[in-house]
Amino acid sequence: MNYKNVTVAGSGVLGYQIAFQTAFHGFNVTVYDINDAVLDKAKAKFENMCEVFKRDLNATQEQLDQTRQNLSYTSDLAQAVKEADLLIEAVPENPKIKIEFYHKLAKVAPEKTVFVTNSSTLLPSQFAESTGRPSKFLALHFANNIWIHNTAEVMSHATTDPQNFNDVIAFAKAIGMLALPLHKEQPGYILNSLLVPLLSAATNLLVNEVADVQTIDKTWIKATGAPVGPFGILDVVGITTAYNINKIAVEQTNDPLKIKTVKYLKENFIDKNKLGVSTGEGFYKYPNPAFQDSDFLK
Ligand code: NAD
Repeated sequence: MNYKNVTVAGSGVLGYQIAFQTAFHGFNVTVYDINDAVLDKAKAKFENMCEVFKRDLNATQEQLDQTRQNLSYTSDLAQAVKEADLLIEAVPENPKIKIEFYHKLAKVAPEKTVFVTNSSTLLPSQFAESTGRPSKFLALHFANNIWIHNTAEVMSHATTDPQNFNDVIAFAKAIGMLALPLHKEQPGYILNSLLVPLLSAATNLLVNEVADVQTIDKTWIKATGAPVGPFGILDVVGITTAYNINKIAVEQTNDPLKIKTVKYLKENFIDKNKLGVSTGEGFYKYPNPAFQDSDFLK
């Protein structure tokens, strides 16, 4: 892997974290977004990220000064990718927006540039043709709060060149990630293939009135040794996400249990602004959720 110049397209929640993490690890990073006003918002996140890196990773001022020097910003796509060895796409999770973006990108990117998508729910094969370079395209999927939840799921589609797959794995390691290779295309990658069914099973038990929140979490924590149960995890993910996933399922299947789940989440959580850790309350109250009490499992 001889990447030096990395462009991150989309400077939202994940894009900016990826850009900062990559610059922190010594790469030249260009942040691209649709206009300068959006980029100004991204620049404003820099100081906050520095505080977080100091707090969680003991980052030194020297490292953070170097990170600032490694970052540049532009809303001109051709300029953004002029030197790019790797382009990381973190634009909204909307197939139409992503396809339009890849069409524009394909016209201006140098031949050498490898493209990766950070999409959580869409597959690289959906976009491979629109990139104009299917063999140089694959998925590199990060998790929110990338500096501590430092997983990088790397997934090819059928015609990705294995050399590019290996290079992206090496790149992921070089920016401090735990690189997780997937040998086949898989919706939801590994993490969501495991997590979504678990969270959905927990919600089903609750909505079917089989057991209450704490009993379900206690069962999981005690029996598996995990530090948090499914409802504690849901509070971190955000109850809005669970609500939206169930709403989509209702539109697609009209499943009575999903209809009941949507109603339950809306009335008990969404309408009351109990959205999880982000609002201070969800299934538990924060900052001291009951599952962290010493007598929770007694
Ligand atoms: P976001 O809405 O916070 O940010 C998207 C950014 O893309 C915005 O800054 C927006 O201005 C920009 N944008 C819109 N149209 C664009 C275009 N045509 N060209 C370039 N930029 C454009 O979204 P996000 O949460 O950062 O998600 C981005 C991607 O990362 C999605 O594919 C999502 O699935 C994935 N992802 C998100 C998370 C998460 O927890 N938020 C986790 C893993 C992966």
